Amino acid sequence: MSRSFTNLVLHLGAAMLASGTMALSAEFATNSTSDTTLAKHLARLRVPEGFAAVVQPPFVVLGDEPPDQVRTRATNTVKWAVDRLKREYFPRDPAEIIDIWLFRDQTSYTNHAQVLFHDTPTTPFGYYSAEHHALIMNIATGGGTLVHEIVHPFLRTNFPECPAWFNEGLASLYEQSADQQGHIRGLVNWRFKGLERAIKDGKTISFQQLTATSDSEFYGSAGNYSQYYGQARYLCYYLQEKGLLKKFYHEFVAGAKTDPTGFRTLQRVLGETDMAAFQKKWEKFILGLRKSEE
Ligand SMILES: [Zn+2]
Repeated sequence: MSRSFTNLVLHLGAAMLASGTMALSAEFATNSTSDTTLAKHLARLRVPEGFAAVVQPPFVVLGDEPPDQVRTRATNTVKWAVDRLKREYFPRDPAEIIDIWLFRDQTSYTNHAQVLFHDTPTTPFGYYSAEHHALIMNIATGGGTLVHEIVHPFLRTNFPECPAWFNEGLASLYEQSADQQGHIRGLVNWRFKGLERAIKDGKTISFQQLTATSDSEFYGSAGNYSQYYGQARYLCYYLQEKGLLKKFYHEFVAGAKTDPTGFRTLQRVLGETDMAAFQKKWEKFILGLRKSEE
């Protein structure tokens, strides 16, 4: 991606179309394949009136907040997270350009999801539309879901076999995160309380079971849905705090053919032979996070 595209704010002075959207008609010097892809993408993009568009490779960030605010989000949230995630985990960018739509409030989010994508959102925060290569967010709910959703296209590209438990564990780890010496660090967040309750009630499942859940089990089980997320997130959190998460990720990717669930890789990286004993240790560690949660 050439420097000229980085953080470019597009001025939406192009002709209004009959549909009430604007066509971006910018001239680009295209000296690489990715620039050509981006130029084509921008030429096709229909941006409603009142929206600013900021190129932040491999994304285009579009929003109906004031343009300076859209630019700030593109830099302080999207670029901030992308730089750190790439450094830690992801050598490859997603092949396609992904649009990140940041709608300023619930009304804008619901209306535009319908008008632009013919979607009725099932979550108040935001979601990824694979069909439209777009993240569709109600940004009034905060930037956490945005960082969560940014992780998914990178995982799809760099670790296509990634099972749901780790896909969601890693993505949700970073929905609340901070910088630590240039590295992204997930923090204790709202998913803690549900997990704490499950531990106290003896309702966690074994890590062998968690890692063996199929995607349809992980996403489909109504009763355990959020508990799976919580347990997967805080397994990633534990690995992070022990300095093992990056190592686990890269060994999981490298060995996914022989260990598709990641369970044996997890055991090896943790240096644990007795995973039942490890679970007790992990639960004690998690309950000890109560003080940082308050
Ligand atoms: Zn997710």
